[in-house]
Amino acid sequence: MPKSLPNPLQKAALWLLNQLIPPSCLLCAAPHNNDIALICGPCRDDLPYISNPCYQCGLPLPAESSSATVCGQCLKQPPPFKHCLVPLGYATPVDSLIAAFKYRKQLTNGRLLSQLLLTEICRHYADESLPEIIVPVPLHWRRQLRRGYNQSQCVASYLGAQLSIPVQLRRIRRIRRTPAQQGLNKPQRQRNLKHAFTVRKPFNGETIALVDDVMTTGATCAEISRELLKAGAGEVHIWALARTPVRH
Ligand SMILES: [Zn+2]
Ligand SMILES: [Zn+2]
Repeated sequence: MPKSLPNPLQKAALWLLNQLIPPSCLLCAAPHNNDIALICGPCRDDLPYISNPCYQCGLPLPAESSSATVCGQCLKQPPPFKHCLVPLGYATPVDSLIAAFKYRKQLTNGRLLSQLLLTEICRHYADESLPEIIVPVPLHWRRQLRRGYNQSQCVASYLGAQLSIPVQLRRIRRIRRTPAQQGLNKPQRQRNLKHAFTVRKPFNGETIALVDDVMTTGATCAEISRELLKAGAGEVHIWALARTPVRH
């Protein structure tokens, strides 16, 4: 048998396999006929998308300011990042998909969420230039060693490969272990993160995409953005899978 099947034969084999065992949706298990998508059309449409987000912080704009692109809070006190692209709210079923991806090595969930983020990136950057470098939010090496992987690195690598943007996995280092951010308010989170990150090599005015899994108050992304800008980055865009759509 040849090592790899010729392309038309491979396609025919895949078609036959799909007829015998149709791909099933990761969420509702219903069979569907798209062999690339991991979920079916209705489940995809039902996801908790964040509608009408602020360009800068990604939180939903108040209903009365439907023509604005940036919220009042960002106008008053702009965050250090320029743009934030987070398509999904951290709600059912996204929360359990992410928890399984993060803590139980369900990498297929990570691929699904990365694909959804990629679709939004392609749509949002249709009229503007893409960032030049992708960096993931780092874990402390001890936590990464225990978990075996960094979920933000998985997403960053997928996006970099799909968009042909270089991914620099070790450009930012987490130099201090920080207690969990859960249960802390915004000023406490900011204090908790002070001097937690360092950038290894200076930048030269590039636009950086900082990739995170779940964004809550945005304190981690803000702290890393400040470090990236201090190191010479031109601007920072945040790309995250989901966020808790609550203003703090
Ligand atoms: Zn489904
Ligand atoms: Zn905003």
